Parts: sequence; structure tokens; C-alpha cells
Amino acid sequence: MSTAEVVNHMLYQLIIGLQQWRKVPATIPNDLRKAHLMLAKMRLSVSEEVPSDIPALIRFLLLPISDWKLDLTNVAFPQDAPLLIQHIGLSPEAMDFLQDYQSPFEAHQQEVYEIVKYCRDSDPPLADAYSRIRLFLVSPANAVITGVRLLYFARSVSDPELSKRILECYEPISDPLSDFRTCNRCGWTLSFHNHQWRCGVEDICGHIEARGEPKELENSTELVYRLKEGVHRYTLLPGLAEFQLANRFTKQGYQVEMYPDVDRYDLAVHKSNQAVYFDVKDYRNPYSLAAHFNKLDAAALEKYKKEHVYIVVPSYRKRGYRQYIRQVINALEPAIRKSIQIIDERAVLRIVGGIEQ
Ligand SMILES: [Zn+2]
Repeated sequence: MSTAEVVNHMLYQLIIGLQQWRKVPATIPNDLRKAHLMLAKMRLSVSEEVPSDIPALIRFLLLPISDWKLDLTNVAFPQDAPLLIQHIGLSPEAMDFLQDYQSPFEAHQQEVYEIVKYCRDSDPPLADAYSRIRLFLVSPANAVITGVRLLYFARSVSDPELSKRILECYEPISDPLSDFRTCNRCGWTLSFHNHQWRCGVEDICGHIEARGEPKELENSTELVYRLKEGVHRYTLLPGLAEFQLANRFTKQGYQVEMYPDVDRYDLAVHKSNQAVYFDVKDYRNPYSLAAHFNKLDAAALEKYKKEHVYIVVPSYRKRGYRQYIRQVINALEPAIRKSIQIIDERAVLRIVGGIEQ
């Protein structure tokens, strides 16, 4: 393993350890202890002080990783970001890193990736079932759902394995429903942090749409489920951007396919025998998006190198980094930089507008 791979693996270990600890706060998970030892070994090798116990480790993890004094060349984590944010938990960069580490070629949350894989590997591939499931998961009406409605949908796909994988995308809301509110943009649960209602760690929805006084969750005598955090963040939220584009082009008379060929791309737009393809990539930090492509092998890169294929960054990412696209391009390996096209949402309108010429 190269030094970068060792550091990447340690970061992964730390993140899953922290995640498990959040789920079961009463015990310190073995994964976190293991990651602590890995970090200690690395800090000793550069003659730096080691966080002596778990509280010291937590304080350490609030620092941007550039302060860790390790060799971070080619490490797939943005150096200006920490792993943890006080009172919030894992940083958005840590969540991006985790999902990329778990399914490097797909940038999908594990549960959704299982669905993609199952549908692709079936003979013939289950393209229609896949579109139906994906459209279900990206609909705000299904972000919080009663057990009865969820089961009804899961069974309607008529494939027990696939039904099981759909249920895996959800978790029951075990806290009292009155602890939550509904997000007016994406339909998921808002929770109260730092004196305000937030939608997920980043509160992307709150930055895009005015929230006002949020509505309470509908009272239900049944068990209520919500999308798991990762599926909300990596499937529903980018899905809203994909949907908005698809609707716009459909209204303009284009033929639009969402997730064509079992998710080869997010969107295909056709008119007069021409087609363009878009893949939305939603990472908080431009460095993380570049790292995603830098890690891909030639086979995985192939689909992005084709003519009329564009990688699209949602407009809201420009709030954090005004030169987002420029920064991604600068951080790409030179050979990859030349062969793929990364654009923002506004450029999509221009490219589709040019199809008919
Ligand atoms: Zn939301």
C-alpha cells in the first residue's frame, strides 16, 4: 500500500468508527479504537504527539487534516476540512469521502448501489424496475412514509430480492415524531441543531429555499419510516436537481430519459436524432470531486470520455466555492482533465439549447 492508501484507509476506519459510536453511544466501537491506533502509529512515525485517549482523539478530529502533520500527498480528502464538526457530527467532507470509499466507481450510497448492481446483473437487466425505484426514492412525497405504503411499493416490484433492497434504503423513526419537522423542499425530516431546524448535516435545502415555520410531521398510529441519511444526501438531494432539469427540457419539447440503461447516466436529452448525456455529481468540496475522478481506472472513466457527455455540478455548490468548477479542473490529473467535461447547471441549458442547430 502507498502512503496515500494507508492514510485513506485510516480515514475510512475513523469515519466508520465515529458513525458506529453515534448509533450506540454507550460503548466505544472497536473500529474507532483500531483507527486510533493507526493514527497513533502514523503520528509517532513523524515524531508528533499522539492523542492519548478518546476525548483527546475527538478534539484532534475537529482540526482540518492539514493540521495532522502527516504526508497527505494524493490523499482523497480535502486538506482544509476536518472529520468532525462540533455539535453536528461527521463533516460533509467525511460523508462524501465515506460513500466514495465504499463504492468508488459509482458514487452511490451503499444501499442504492446494491439496487443498481442487482438490476444491472440481472439477465436481461431490469431497466424499467430500476427507473421506477429510483424515481420513487427521489420523490419528496416518499422521503418520510408509513410502513404500509413503503411495503406496498416494495412488493409491487415483484422481485423479493429487490423488495428487500428497497426496504434497506429506509429506517424507522424511533424518536417521537414531535421531535422532527418536515422539509418543505425535499420532504425529509428536519432536526433541531444550534437553535435552528436543519435538513441534514449541510442543510442544503435551507440554503436554497426560505423555510419559514416548518410543519410538524403528520401524526400517525403506524410506524413511520424515513430515507436513511446517506440515501437522502446522495440520492434524493441530487435527484431534485436532476428532476428540475428533466422537467424543464420535457416542457421545451425534448425527449428526456432519466437514469437510462440502468443508471449509465442521470439524464439523456434527445431531439432530432441527437442526444446529450448528463451525470450530476454532488460533492461539497471541489477537491473531493477531483479525487473521485483521479481514482477511477480507465474502464470506469470510459463513459465520461465520450462525446456529448457532461458532468454537472449543482448550482448550489457555488455558494461554498465561487470558483468551484475551476478548482475541480485544477485538481484533476492532467490526462483526465483533457478527456472529461465538467460544467455547472447553467451550462446544461446552453448545451441542450444548441442541440437543434
Ligand atoms: Zn430538505
